[in-house]
Amino acid sequence: MSTADTPETPRTTESTGRTAPTDTQVLVIGAGPTGLLLAGDLATAGIDVTLVERRPHGLANMTRAFGVHARTLEQLDARGLADELVATGTTLGTARLFGRLDLDLTRLPSRFNHLLVTPQYEVERLLERRAESAGVTFRYGTELRGLHQDTDTVTAEFTDPDGTPLTLTARHLVGTDGVRSAVRTALGLPFPGGSVIRSLVLADVRLAEEPADAFSVSGSGDTFAFLAPFGDGWYRVMGWSRTRQVPDTEPVDLDEIREITRRALGTDLGMHDPRWISRFHSDERQVPSYRVGRVLLAGDAAHVHSPAGGQGMNTGLQDAANLSWKLTAVLRGDAPDPEALLDSYQSERHPVGAAVLRTSGALVRLAMAHTPLTRAARALAARLLSVLRPASTRAMGMISGLGIAYAPPTGSKRPAGRRAPDVRLREGRLHELLRAGEFVLITPEGEAPPLPKTAPVSPEHLVRATWTDPAKKTAVLVRPDGYIHWTNG
Ligand SMILES: Cc1cc2nc3c(=O)[nH]c(=O)nc-3n(C[C@H](O)[C@H](O)[C@H](O)COP(=O)(O)OP(=O)(O)OC[C@H]3O[C@@H](n4cnc5c(N)ncnc54)[C@H](O)[C@@H]3O)c2cc1C
Repeated sequence: MSTADTPETPRTTESTGRTAPTDTQVLVIGAGPTGLLLAGDLATAGIDVTLVERRPHGLANMTRAFGVHARTLEQLDARGLADELVATGTTLGTARLFGRLDLDLTRLPSRFNHLLVTPQYEVERLLERRAESAGVTFRYGTELRGLHQDTDTVTAEFTDPDGTPLTLTARHLVGTDGVRSAVRTALGLPFPGGSVIRSLVLADVRLAEEPADAFSVSGSGDTFAFLAPFGDGWYRVMGWSRTRQVPDTEPVDLDEIREITRRALGTDLGMHDPRWISRFHSDERQVPSYRVGRVLLAGDAAHVHSPAGGQGMNTGLQDAANLSWKLTAVLRGDAPDPEALLDSYQSERHPVGAAVLRTSGALVRLAMAHTPLTRAARALAARLLSVLRPASTRAMGMISGLGIAYAPPTGSKRPAGRRAPDVRLREGRLHELLRAGEFVLITPEGEAPPLPKTAPVSPEHLVRATWTDPAKKTAVLVRPDGYIHWTNG
């Protein structure tokens, strides 16, 4: 563990060397999945990163997320981690919604045409190991208390594990410090929204009977329950009952969860031996600005919503993948317009966060539907998704993350902004080539065309690759996060 308890050597961080020295180039606050991926990416690219976490070292985050979607698995594949993660859980080819609608995930156009069910701590374990070996400086047991920024530096105030005040400076600071983000508060940003569902209960349990469906959501409108296997004999069960709406502080026991599950699914499958049991509520909120000067927000610090659709961790990881290469390009001096590049983090990821809030909000509201009108809407939604292939393809694209696309950069046209599929190239699969953490330029054999002047990459940070198909005559520049930046086709 590279825990920094030695005095820091001030170093000059901008590529020009003209600015004041800082303790580190980027301060990342919060070692949840979002912060770990971001810090690991930056360090892999040679950026000096300090990751500050309030928890003491060794105290894991609670197992909250358990569903890892296809696009996130592709992002992890592009970091050499996906196959190891898949081995920790179980993969599901079908997701059942509203008790009757099966979404066939095997149709997803990805190497990962499924949902992976694995505890969040497995994702964090792999990301932490990667961040450590890439050289991230970890400071556990250290809590952010405040920050301020000027034209070229961010100064952050902390208390260290002994409660002693500590000040660190950086070129940029990213708040990945979760739903109660101290970074967001220090920026004075609002977090508008409200509560979407209260008194959700959850437990990780063993079952006496195997469920008929691996992944199941069902409900009557007054109750719903959700069940998913971790693959090692443990199951996650989550439930809600309209008739038992109490504060989060109200104790919950297995009998309450059994009763809700029986009412929703018709059986409690003999659940026993809970290892974790909890009651919680979900808010739906999004910060209006993901960037204020040199400070940025990502993950739950920027957006939060109900667990329906299993989107929170997945969205946070993709925020991190979107931001890491942009910060890298700016710090290396590779960005022709650094302000515009950092602003594109807001213009690309804020709409995705808003769409996730809408989808997960719709799923949870339809699951709770109990008036004749809302139940009819649920039946209609299920019917449309089951009979209209384009509708179910769009829904799966949104939930899996594979359908996410960004606006083409100025001066480019489609397919710029779209996800680059994992094509086979002479040098290997595209997603393997992305493991370098750099842009990939794919060309026909022969001389490569000149890159557009606006491309935020310099030739020494470019991985070059060749189509296997000699009929392909276009050049394609793929961003480090696997989206097409430019093509001359
Ligand atoms: C019941 C439940 C089920 C869920 N299921 C899914 C799912 O299936 N799929 C999915 O994608 N998502 C799911 N989610 C959401 C998912 O757990 C979160 O979206 C995810 O943890 C967010 O990651 P993060 O890194 O942004 O924030 P967090 O995981 O909250 O990490 C923030 C970190 O910052 C640290 N921190 C906080 N304040 C400070 C400070 N002042 N100084 C220093 N450090 C600080 C915290 O200790 C923490 O380690 C679920 C959530 C719940 C509650």
